[in-house]
Amino acid sequence: MIAATTFAGKRVALFGLGGSGLATAFALKAGGAIVAVWDDNLVAREKAEAEGFAPVDLADADWSQFSSFVLSPGVPLTHPEPHWTVKKAQAAGVEIIGDVEIFCRERREHAPAAPFVAITGTNGKSTTTALTAHLFRTFGKDVQMGGNIGTPILSLAPLSDERVYVIELSTFQIDLTPTLDPSVGLLLNLTPDHIDRHGTMEHYAAIKERLVAAAERAVISVDDHFVREIAERRFAAGRETIAMSVAHPELADGLVVQGVTIEHRSARVSTPIADLSGIASLRGAHNAQNAVAAVAALGDLASDHARVQAGLCSFPGLAHRMENIGSLGRILFVNDSKATNADAAEKALLSYNDIFWIIGGKSKEGGIEPLRPLFGRVAKAYLIGAATEDFARTLEGAVAYERCGTLDVAARAAARDAARSQAQEPVVLLSPACASYDQFPNFEKRGDAFRSVVVEIISNGGVS
Ligand code: ADP
Repeated sequence: MIAATTFAGKRVALFGLGGSGLATAFALKAGGAIVAVWDDNLVAREKAEAEGFAPVDLADADWSQFSSFVLSPGVPLTHPEPHWTVKKAQAAGVEIIGDVEIFCRERREHAPAAPFVAITGTNGKSTTTALTAHLFRTFGKDVQMGGNIGTPILSLAPLSDERVYVIELSTFQIDLTPTLDPSVGLLLNLTPDHIDRHGTMEHYAAIKERLVAAAERAVISVDDHFVREIAERRFAAGRETIAMSVAHPELADGLVVQGVTIEHRSARVSTPIADLSGIASLRGAHNAQNAVAAVAALGDLASDHARVQAGLCSFPGLAHRMENIGSLGRILFVNDSKATNADAAEKALLSYNDIFWIIGGKSKEGGIEPLRPLFGRVAKAYLIGAATEDFARTLEGAVAYERCGTLDVAARAAARDAARSQAQEPVVLLSPACASYDQFPNFEKRGDAFRSVVVEIISNGGVS
């Protein structure tokens, strides 16, 4: 745990005891703060009580006694409207911060030289965070990985100048970190997503920009309009900035992906760093972006090309994101359960040919219509869940399909057909382009259920 010593002796209010909230309360207490915790949820309050915290109803509290207010990132700071605790804090002039802000203050105080790689973007955050941590470990570094990817930042091992912190940050977390100053700030991409939760695209982009604004060194993609503008502002300000690109391999300076090769460019002179071909966990152009970003985050270490290559090749990938879960002869089984919308499923469809595609669940607006240009890659579709009739209408006349009802039936039908196909590498792909809630509690459970059927199919040598 990282004790919040910079809050010693101070009274701090904290709202939101799920996720990272309780971990933050522990860190504040360990640092000597007097913490008033609260949550609207009784179960969460009881859990905090069992851990030795006395909940204080912040609705009735005297806010003038608090020096800081720590808010959980899931609780609205601005949109659709500020939470009632935010209004109370603002009325009393109390600063509103999150756990990452506490981390930044501790780092400045106790280990300012500790490498701190902060990663954000609309898509690919977790993959890039996991890969960056994996690459630093390949170089023998003592790495702590956390933030939005899982482990709360203050639950990580104590700060020391030698320890590398690789942290995924959501927009909400950045918004609660007024003095965010990573040694490396990495911005992957920016596309309109969850705008309802951030007001406008401009507001969303402005928050994301804060991750790189005060970074010692920034690594910024130039592949979409919003990130390119942010990169240009850094360059114009003369700050150390590395541009990276998959879409513009002609870039004169920075890191690019040319075909399957990650190259360093300096005044148009290219130096190959690593080769992505054949790395199953980094298949597809979207993963090329994640890979080039992670390599750029290594800084000078990336000059050891052999080690970078070894790190990329040994990256296991993340569960439920185009995860190779096994093969049976020529057939590859891929779990992309995290693809809960057409945009995410598109990445998987672009990454394979001869696809036996399991789709369905609780459909999002627009369904799979945007994927029509990629239907040629699909050998057959297997429909499950509530979206069945909607998707059947879209596929009609374009792709062969079968109504399967459940994931279990779909996986077996797809494996059977893949075994009969003449394709060199048929792929049984769960990339449902839908939320899971009609049949599963979440996408993880859906992916786990798929894995169980696949393991059974493989151990039986196929489907009879
Ligand atoms: P995040 O943490 O930002 O949600 P993940 O690394 O968990 O991102 O990837 C989630 C999904 O987003 C993947 O399954 C893939 O469909 C898509 N994706 C991953 N990386 C990228 C990228 N660089 N650009 C666009 N889409 C991506």
